[in-house]
Amino acid sequence: MTKELAIRDLRVSIDGQEIVRGLSLTVPRGEVHAIMGPNGSGKSTLAKVIAGHPDYKVESGEVLMDGENVLELQPDERARRGIFLAFQYPSEIPGVTIANFLRAAVAARLPEGEELEATDYYAQLYEKMDLLAMDRSFTSRSVNEGFSGGEKKRNEILQLAMLAPKYAVLDETDSGLDIDALKVVAHGVNSLRGPDLGILLITHYQRLLNYIVPDGVHVMVQGRIVRSGGKELALELDERGYDWTKGDLAEPVLV
Ligand code: ADP
Ligand code: MG
Repeated sequence: MTKELAIRDLRVSIDGQEIVRGLSLTVPRGEVHAIMGPNGSGKSTLAKVIAGHPDYKVESGEVLMDGENVLELQPDERARRGIFLAFQYPSEIPGVTIANFLRAAVAARLPEGEELEATDYYAQLYEKMDLLAMDRSFTSRSVNEGFSGGEKKRNEILQLAMLAPKYAVLDETDSGLDIDALKVVAHGVNSLRGPDLGILLITHYQRLLNYIVPDGVHVMVQGRIVRSGGKELALELDERGYDWTKGDLAEPVLV
């Protein structure tokens, strides 16, 4: 069994419009791969389709997790098997505290009949919160309600740390962060890196990749990967913008 998240020739549409247009990409477990691209190129659509968002129609292609096609599975089933998505725009859940939300999420992943001991849970929660420089008072606040942009993103990474998935898709986790918050989030992600986790890091800016150095960089334009390379590709994009990659767009020629 190959331990990788493999996206094969994926086509996705919404309202009859094709957004992801024949995209292929592989993230081996243990590696961090970045997707960069201009706004509107379909990055968030790709992230949501991997997680199982019901609004999008998969026209063709596969998303394979360790060899198994996950596109047939419900979102909660995908999550249980080890897929995690950190949202670009995290939802607020008034009335549900972070402590209860995460406890329910962690408990839902335990095998049938196993229970989560409160003391174990809180020990784990506080350890991860310390890692992300989150104040303990957060645990009694409602999920994302009244949070700053940086606090919401930190909370997404706290979920990642607590759920310990096999593959994590982080959608513009850097957006809305000032440099200090960015460093904290990057430190959190870096400390979670390891052989058991594959990360797909979606970002519009190169800045995050100064702190989370990726194993591979992929440029997404108009629904497909137009270029792949090492971490130096991100620097090139930062200097030259995205326009030069558009020459790589292989549009089918109609004859
Ligand atoms: P990115 O994350 O790269 O900025 P998105 O995936 O958010 O790109 O959007 C790609 C395109 O798909 C845009 O033209 C956007 O308007 C469209 N799109 C995405 N989600 C929806 C939706 N739920 N309804 C209608 N159009 C959508
Ligand atoms: Mg987006």
